[in-house]
Amino acid sequence: MSDASELPKKEEKEEEVTPEPEEQSDDSSGEEATGDTEMDFLRNLFSSTLGLGSADKVLDELTLDAVARYINSGKCKNIICMVGAGISTSAGIPDFRSPGTGLYANLQKYDLPYPEAIFQIDYFKKHPEPFFALAKELYPGQFKPTICHYFMKLLKDKGHLRRCYTQNIDTLERVAGLEGEDLIEAHGTFYTSHCVSFCCRKEYNLDWMKDKIFSDDIPRCDKCKSLVKPDIVFFGENLPVRFFTSMKMDFPCCDLLIVMGTSLQVQPFAGLVGRVSKSCPRLLINMEKAGQADPLFGLLGFGGGMDFDSDKAYRDVAHISTCDEGCLALAELLGWKEELEELVKQEHARIDSQDKKEKASGSKGAAAKASSASVAPEPEKEE
Ligand SMILES: [Zn+2]
Repeated sequence: MSDASELPKKEEKEEEVTPEPEEQSDDSSGEEATGDTEMDFLRNLFSSTLGLGSADKVLDELTLDAVARYINSGKCKNIICMVGAGISTSAGIPDFRSPGTGLYANLQKYDLPYPEAIFQIDYFKKHPEPFFALAKELYPGQFKPTICHYFMKLLKDKGHLRRCYTQNIDTLERVAGLEGEDLIEAHGTFYTSHCVSFCCRKEYNLDWMKDKIFSDDIPRCDKCKSLVKPDIVFFGENLPVRFFTSMKMDFPCCDLLIVMGTSLQVQPFAGLVGRVSKSCPRLLINMEKAGQADPLFGLLGFGGGMDFDSDKAYRDVAHISTCDEGCLALAELLGWKEELEELVKQEHARIDSQDKKEKASGSKGAAAKASSASVAPEPEKEE
């Protein structure tokens, strides 16, 4: 079942994935707003599905120019980005989990009962070797963030970014300079790891995990000798609890939703597009249109599907291109193009020189250190 309205029920019992403190900055208003937010969501779901209710037309036309004018108008303070594998393909990162992307075809050598087993938690606990062999092959950090990642960093620097919800586990958002509080890593991250034993749950950092992976050791907990697993969400595991708590605070106050590099097919992530207010413009930058309401499912489908070109379309804009091209085009319209290109150039040069230094002094932790200049060492710590 994929009904987005089921989400809130899940959140109490799912502490085990990421037992992190909530964001204090949002708590004061967030607590009491939660009930209202649920009501708002239901109201939006019904009114949009039934065509009831009114919505303000914020964009004067459904084009990228209009979105840029809106961002520059001063009325667009809270932008939420929702991103998927498509934003990292230009960095050379294969789509880690989705079948049919070529990755699964390369798994024969691991002798799996079926390809998805490599990301299944029960299989992993018995046979961790294939996962860690693949992790070595695809280790995040051998890659540089893309123009699109740095575009989101610019949104943050200019005070527009409310949050980035990512489906990616490659940590490139962090390498590009987004910090823990800017990010919801919906499918988890390689950035931290935990002991799989429920009574231990000791945390390990990226350097520790990288050492183990590259020395072909199966990572075991110092304290209890159980397996240690990167905090990516395996099949059969729940999404991080922070995904559910943050979405309730973030989406009702969103002024602009930018969806990039995802076909919006994985729930509950996809259902987030229906959680913004009916007046909130939504921009899709992707190689194909996505997220449109499914006429077959109606109420059962997620509420508030995208509508780019019907007679009733009033807020959804589709820019069909690669994520990098779309971000560059938007940056140009915003007057940020040079700044974006300069940022990409500088950061890539910094990562290259860091990599060289690390290689010269042994290969330990090269990727982790390459990113550490722009990434807080303890991302969840609150000031
Ligand atoms: Zn342990």
